[in-house]
Parts: sequence; structure tokens; C-alpha cells
Amino acid sequence: MRASKMNISTLREDPSEAEIASHRLLLRGGYLHKSGAGLYLYAPLLKRVLDKVARIVADEIASTGGLEIVMPILQEQALWEASGRWETYQASRTMLTVRDRGGMVFGLAPTAEEVVTDYAAHVVKSHKQLPVTFFQQHTKFRDEIRPRFGLMRVKEFIMMDAYSFHSSDESLDATYQAMRAAYDRAFRRLGLEAFAVEADSGAIGGSGSHEFMVAADVGEDTILYCPESGYAANVERAIGTVPAAANWDTAPAAPIITPTPGVGTIEQVVEYLRAHGHPSIMPAHLVKTVLFVAKTAAGSHSVAACVRGDRSLNEVKLTNALSRLLAAEGPILLLRPMQADEVRDATGADPGFAGPVKGLKVSRCLADRTLEGSTRMVTGANLTDHHILGFAIAHDAGVPVIFDDLVTIVPGDACPQSGNPLQGKRGIEVGHVFKLGTKYSQAMKAEFTGADQKLHPFVMGCYGIGTSRVVAAAVEQHHDADGICWPCAIAPYHCVVVPTKSGDAAVEQAAETIYRELAAQGIEAVIDDRDVKPGVKFKDWDLLGIPFRVVCGRGITEGLVEFKARCGAVENIPVSSAVATVVERVRAAIAG
Ligand code: ATP
Ligand code: MG
Repeated sequence: MRASKMNISTLREDPSEAEIASHRLLLRGGYLHKSGAGLYLYAPLLKRVLDKVARIVADEIASTGGLEIVMPILQEQALWEASGRWETYQASRTMLTVRDRGGMVFGLAPTAEEVVTDYAAHVVKSHKQLPVTFFQQHTKFRDEIRPRFGLMRVKEFIMMDAYSFHSSDESLDATYQAMRAAYDRAFRRLGLEAFAVEADSGAIGGSGSHEFMVAADVGEDTILYCPESGYAANVERAIGTVPAAANWDTAPAAPIITPTPGVGTIEQVVEYLRAHGHPSIMPAHLVKTVLFVAKTAAGSHSVAACVRGDRSLNEVKLTNALSRLLAAEGPILLLRPMQADEVRDATGADPGFAGPVKGLKVSRCLADRTLEGSTRMVTGANLTDHHILGFAIAHDAGVPVIFDDLVTIVPGDACPQSGNPLQGKRGIEVGHVFKLGTKYSQAMKAEFTGADQKLHPFVMGCYGIGTSRVVAAAVEQHHDADGICWPCAIAPYHCVVVPTKSGDAAVEQAAETIYRELAAQGIEAVIDDRDVKPGVKFKDWDLLGIPFRVVCGRGITEGLVEFKARCGAVENIPVSSAVATVVERVRAAIAG
């Protein structure tokens, strides 16, 4: 490719809207064009990168036996109603919908379990056809609350989504493991350091799931892990042991209603009590009661959730606990904190004084297991300006309390496997694998004939890789102050040949020869034939992140060219070995 024909349009300045490196560098390099709020045009260089990512991903999924298909983006409401997910996705407002001229409503694919399950029900009749996996690489739409960070979180993105169908749990387990291994291979080939963590199944549902994460400070996910046991989980899901609270020596042994005028938050209550005879009280001696409204298809529920005062409530765990309690009513469509007037109705008190004691009017009260055996605590009294001191939830609760795991695990809590302190880091979720079981096949009556000649619902798994998010994650993992440093396997081009003395026939001819020979050897090469200063050329190629560069300049008279890997030092090499050097280095870089 000739650079003069590539319409290279780089920016010297950082765009003000870009907060993270990948967004900034992809915009500066002209890889991305902002076409609207959170909407991006993929420019020619990005298209090449995306195609390479897509090819490697497709290649590895196909290597597990996956069959590639293309599903429609417009999906019928009726299909989503058959699985029961139309309501969930409408309630969470995740799905974008459109209406055709006849008034029929369609969802724009946020994922495709319904469409593929319907397909499998039609084309897979017998256990002899199982297992089978279908996959695609296609546009997805999600009406994200906060689209941001360029390709990282967008309303429209490219995803590889695969769906496997089985006659047994064992067969699903085998494919799930094969997929995990395929993901490992794909991310390695893509030049990404990704690792699997235990994950929540979320709105997709099912019994087991792992996310693949790329470690990055700008990642939106928090991961808890233990270097000793290898345990690693998304914070939404992580379990662990919370250290015991220190002693509160002045705690009353039995409940006493105590005035706490005007102090509602945990910090205020602690400060007030410290100043009023309890110098050693800590937030961990308080019960924090958070009030919610949960909606199911059957109606609304008022819910109280209690955790220790020094800890945060994990809303994902609360949603899962409520789903189990309210299973008969279908999924939880919405969980939102109560507003002040709802809190007054539920407690008879101003916000800040709620507790699992007499006067609490909720349909369910849950408490974190760390509170189960706790004694001599402080709780809101459901009376404005009052708390109860010396409270033991197991004996003194005024409502039935259901204990479950509701706490957000933090670094320092004990690993569930080794007991050592967990560590924390941030990550970008680039892929996800789920065991779905029969959730969709049962709801949609997608069945096959088993060896017993009876009909059985398919056992299913589903697997996603954020093809376009992978590009952003790769830039996050591979950049420096000058620009992007693409892993060779996904770079838009492998090598750029830069003649630095325009008008010098020997230089130009050497550059042209190297360029042509590289192309003949299958190297994706660019020759920078633009009429601009060498410094401008170097800056552009550093920003664009092309892995290798050959510079033909003054050295030609001595038979030398400069060879440089994007993040390496300049080496002077004989012009005669330039092509062989590039070929060897590109092949080695792609092989990883
Ligand atoms: P997140 O937690 O980041 O919102 P998710 O768990 O909802 O993602 P999945 O349903 O697991 O996403 O989708 C599979 C993959 O698609 C994700 O692992 C991610 O790489 C990618 N992806 C999901 N949402 C987006 C988005 N809004 N923009 C770009 N990529 C996305
Ligand atoms: Mg996910």
C-alpha cells in the first residue's frame, strides 16, 4: 500500500473527550471517527484490525467444531416473549426496539439465544446430531446507560457469539472447557494477556460462568484474586470471609433504645456515639439497612437488606438472592432503592433510622451471613432520631430475617480456598462463557429425541467475545507515549518502508525494491511515499503503531538501511538483508 493513497489523517493533539489511552490514540490515529454521540465509524485502518481480530477468533471457535452462521439483527418480539426475556430487557431498558410500518415491534439484537434456540429446534432433531455449536460475528445493540471510552462501551458493537447444544450436562461441560481453551488460544494469538475469573450469569442466566479479563487500571470491572490458590472472581460474584469486628467494650448486653438526634448515616452515628460514652465503637458494630423496591411480573415487593455497617451491599448478590426467594414469580425485572417517602411508609421514620426491628413493614428482609451470629450491635429503631444499642439480629429482629451472602468482598477478605487475604485489581471484560442449562430450551420448547426415543430439552451453553472491545483492550495493553504498539497479528500492516530523501533516486529505488519484495513474501507493507518531512512520517507511524519500520536514507550509499521494531532500538542492517529480517521478525511476532 502506498501511504499517499491511504488518506492518513492523524491528529497531533489529544481529543478532549477521550479519557483513556485507547480512545485517545484510536481517534488521534484516525482509526475511529465519531459519527454521533457514542457512535463510531470504523475507518480503513481499523477495519483491517477488526477483520484480523475477527478472523483469529472465528478460527479458534471453528477449531472446536463451531459452525459459523449469520443471524438477523432485527429480532421478533414474539421470540423474546417465548423465552420470557422480552419483559426483563424492556424493564432494564437494555434493548433498543424499532417498529415497522405495520406496527410490528422488533428488538435490535443485544444477544441471540432466542434466535439460535429457535433455529436449533428446527434443524436438530436427534441426539445423534449433538453436540453442535453455532456461532456468528455480528453487530449487537445495547442501550447502555453510560456509553464511554470509545470502543470499550458503545451502544453498537461487534461481538462473536457462540451457542452450543447438548444432550447432557457432561457434554456441555466438555464443550465449556473446550471453549475456555479456545478463548485462551485466541487471546494469546491476539497478543492479549487475558485470564478467566468466576462471574455472575446476569440477565443471560444459567448455572456457571467465567469472564475473560484483560488487566488494566481503566477497566470497569473489579477482580478479587488469590495468588496462592488461583481463585479469581469478579467482585459481583466473589465470595470470601469477612474479618471479625474489633471489640466494642461499652456495648450494652441487651437492646436499649437510644436517642441519636439528627444522625442517620453510619459515620454520623459512630461519631455521635463515640462522643456519648462509646469511644471504641466502629462502623462494623452497626447494622446497615438498605431499603429497595423489587419488581417481578407478579408485582412489587418492598425489601430490606442488611449488611455490617463497615461493608457495602452487593446488589448483584441481592438480586440473585431475591430471584431464589421469588422464583415462582419469574425473574426480578427491576431492583431500585426506595425513595424517601417510601422509606417513611416502610419504617414509620425518616431515612437513616431503618432497622430489622419492630415497625419494619417490608415483604422480605434479608441479611448478610456475617451478621448471623452477631451480638451487641447498633441498628436503626424505625423511629426518627433513635437507634437501638445492644442488638443481636438472631434474637431481637422484629421481622423474619433470611440470611444469605449479600456483602461486597474487598481486598483483604480471606480467600474462600486458601484463607489468605484476597487481592484486588481492575480488568476489562473481553469475553464471557456461560452454562445455560435448559433455561431457554425449556421455555421455548426446543427439544430433541433422545436415545430413549423421548423428547428432551437441549442443554445449552453460550459464549461471547467483544470483537470490537478487544481492539480497545489491545491498545490499552500495548501503547507508549508516542502511540499504539499493535501486536503484530492484529496490526493493520506489518511493516512500513520510509524513504527519507525524496528526490534521491538511489534511496527511492531501494525503498521501492524492499517494499515490493516484502509484498511478494506476503508481508503487509506500506511505503511512505508522501511528500512530507521524515519527522512527520516517523511520528505518524509511531502513533499508528505499525510493528516494524525500514528507513532508507543516507546509509544507502554504504549499503545500509535502518530497521526498527515499534518499541525497539534502531539497528543498521545491510540493505540486502532487510527483507529477510522483516520476514523473519514478522513471522516470529505473529507466531508469538
Ligand atoms: P459488560 O459487563 O461490560 O457490560 P456484559 O457482561 O454485559 O458486558 P456479555 O453479555 O457478556 O457483556 O457480552 C459478551 C462480550 O461483549 C463482553 O465480554 C464484552 O467483551 C462485549 N461487550 C458487551 N457490552 C459491550 C458494549 N456495550 N460495548 C462493547 N463491547 C461490549
Ligand atoms: Mg459479560
